[in-house]
Amino acid sequence: MNNRLYGNLIFELSQPGRKAYSLPKNEFGNYEFPSNLKREKDAELPECDELTVVRHYTNQSGNNFGVNNGFYPLGSCTMKYNPVINEEIAAMPAFTGIHPLQPLNTVQGSLEVEYNLQQALASISGLYDFTLNPYAGAHGELTGLMIIRSYHQSRGDMKRTKVIIPDSAHGTNPASAAVCGLEIVEVKSTPEGLVDVEDLKPLLGDDIAGMMMTNPNTLGLFEKEIPEIAKLVHENGGLMYYDGANLNPLLGVARPGDMGFDVMHINLHKTFSTPHGGGGPGDGPVGVRKDLVPFLPKPHVIKTEKGFDVVLPEHGSDFTVENIHVGPYMGNFLTILRAYTYILTLGKENIKWVGPYATLNANYIKESLKDDYELPIDDICMHEFVFDGLKDKSTEVTTMDVAKRLLDYGYHAPTIYFPLLFHEAMMIEPTESESKKTIDGFIEVMHKIAKEAREIPNEVKDSPHNTPIGRVDDVLAAKEPILNYRQAMNK
Ligand SMILES: *Cc1c(COP(=O)(O)O)cnc(C)c1O
Repeated sequence: MNNRLYGNLIFELSQPGRKAYSLPKNEFGNYEFPSNLKREKDAELPECDELTVVRHYTNQSGNNFGVNNGFYPLGSCTMKYNPVINEEIAAMPAFTGIHPLQPLNTVQGSLEVEYNLQQALASISGLYDFTLNPYAGAHGELTGLMIIRSYHQSRGDMKRTKVIIPDSAHGTNPASAAVCGLEIVEVKSTPEGLVDVEDLKPLLGDDIAGMMMTNPNTLGLFEKEIPEIAKLVHENGGLMYYDGANLNPLLGVARPGDMGFDVMHINLHKTFSTPHGGGGPGDGPVGVRKDLVPFLPKPHVIKTEKGFDVVLPEHGSDFTVENIHVGPYMGNFLTILRAYTYILTLGKENIKWVGPYATLNANYIKESLKDDYELPIDDICMHEFVFDGLKDKSTEVTTMDVAKRLLDYGYHAPTIYFPLLFHEAMMIEPTESESKKTIDGFIEVMHKIAKEAREIPNEVKDSPHNTPIGRVDDVLAAKEPILNYRQAMNK
């Protein structure tokens, strides 16, 4: 097997009889498990000494790439810096040592954190109240759509089974609608990349539950017609859902609630600096306007004269939406704590600079690179923008090749082949965290790759050359995936 390809597996380092533990002498006697509960054969586990285990995982972690390693312009994901103070607060024993079922009078401080974050998000977004229950953006979308469906059902309006979604939407929007049992009606974009109001009008009818919108949209463009769109949807009896994954550039500048949105989610792991680590733990709080508060999932933290209290679900009594994840627990608490720390660290005065800096950084990169990369929509962008591959269409170098070559130079690739509106899409989002020096370094490398594409295209097409794993065969990886150590050892 090729070590360069797979690194050493912990199983390869195994030596019979080695171990990394020593237990105190057993003073309690043995308890024999019933034979029907016992394995027939010992589990096949690697046998390694402690130092080997530590070295193995330390070396493996060096093959990872995160925001703490380098620039990570992954469009749509808002890979901003996760401040260390967030981690310090989240590691405090006063927070890590509590149990979710502790009596409420012993966890008043933690309930206050939850309550204050609900209030802070409401004030930032212009909605009335938030649930911190959902664990991700997609979780939030589903919860929000369930709230919209419940609202119509509570009014005896059972016909509204469809939801309007723009063709530029993130894939989770139609997926959430489908999981919620709603039918998807697609509205087209104009050549300028915004929702086409004329295309929308004929879609509205008494079967429409609502419309989902993202602003700025997935092309990084500000949707200018929202007041008109919200008016049309509301007049028709539908509700407006705001996909708040792109809230970053609007933070402290404009509020979805003021634009006419009724329900929204926020990605704490994007806008509020909590880690994205390996797909989680994320958090997707959902906010609603005042008359929709009764539909929010329970438990929900409230403030009373006697302190903080938790409203529990009343079974079968109303149209309250079910919790998106089970258990009586109130969201991903340590993530909530990190987001709250971030908001307090910035404060009201500084939070409004996040959006302008994120927007400035994105526009600076876009303008600096548009002579080498195809810019299909040449307009001022918000926090991110999309190129459609290299400008020089005579080269065979694709967006995929540019993305792989960036790895050689120590940069994470941008989001590629999304959104689907362009064939060679390359979506770049620098966030506000980066300095001009870092951004200039990225711009220089992007120019260099464009030059290589003209002069030594094969060097780019065969990249990456400097990473532990070279170019993987996408088709083979999909058709014959190597999913466990036995398969890897047999290669
Ligand atoms: C990231 C994102 C989502 C989904 O959020 P997850 O937390 O990944 O589930 C939805 N919409 C947009 C526009 C996004 O960028």
